[in-house]
Amino acid sequence: MPKYHGLIDSHCHLTAPQFDEDLVAVLKRAQDASVIGINVVGYTVEHSLKAVGIAERSENLWASVGVSPHDAKDAPRDFERSLQTIVEENRDTVVAIGETGLDFFHLISPRDVQIASFTRHIELAVEQKLPLVVHMRDAFEDTRRALSENNAPAVGGVFHCFTGTPREALEAVELGFYVSFSGIVTFKGARQVRECAAAVPDARLLVETDAPFLAPAPMRGNRNEPSFLVHVVEELARIRNTTSEQIGRITAENARRLFLPDCSP
Ligand SMILES: [Zn+2]
Repeated sequence: MPKYHGLIDSHCHLTAPQFDEDLVAVLKRAQDASVIGINVVGYTVEHSLKAVGIAERSENLWASVGVSPHDAKDAPRDFERSLQTIVEENRDTVVAIGETGLDFFHLISPRDVQIASFTRHIELAVEQKLPLVVHMRDAFEDTRRALSENNAPAVGGVFHCFTGTPREALEAVELGFYVSFSGIVTFKGARQVRECAAAVPDARLLVETDAPFLAPAPMRGNRNEPSFLVHVVEELARIRNTTSEQIGRITAENARRLFLPDCSP
């Protein structure tokens, strides 16, 4: 097993009920697997608060606050006020706004509800000078339009768990965003995602587990957790013809630059 200086899981849902029983053990295994930073991402107002609570446990845990496109239809009408309060009361732990974005593949919330919610998240991110955690599935043009029209490039962010085309990945980079890859890169049928993972420049590459979902190939079907991040890193190293140590180093540097700009060298 290669020796990593420290990997960063840029996107993970430790507030999910799947972790309620054994979070302490999960965090210990992450540490043993060289994961030195985890972005705990909220997907409702309640889970955003819970994410902050988890992030308070350690300086290696950070929180992102937002309402996901799937959950947008059930959000309280003034959800962005609640998110704003969480940000303002927790400046030490909150590093980003999201997850938010547009998912026209699953379409669990109606399009107009998703777009309205996404726009309010972008406005909040710009106001609070925090980067955005963007979920985008089959909605690149609308996502790009919402980001550009609302000045999102001023704060940037990440397209997480990227499943678009290589051209879209490069357009996301052009817009000033990072592109993050999950365990999907290890799935047999995911050739296009691997093409995207080959195309993104070093300086914009991130890795994530998106746990508890999307466990990478050797663990597929199990609950995913941050200690499995190494499998994503190893696959990216194969795809990009480099070492996993190098992928670990650049993605950790990138995550720090994006989420902890004041601490990054
Ligand atoms: Zn997610």
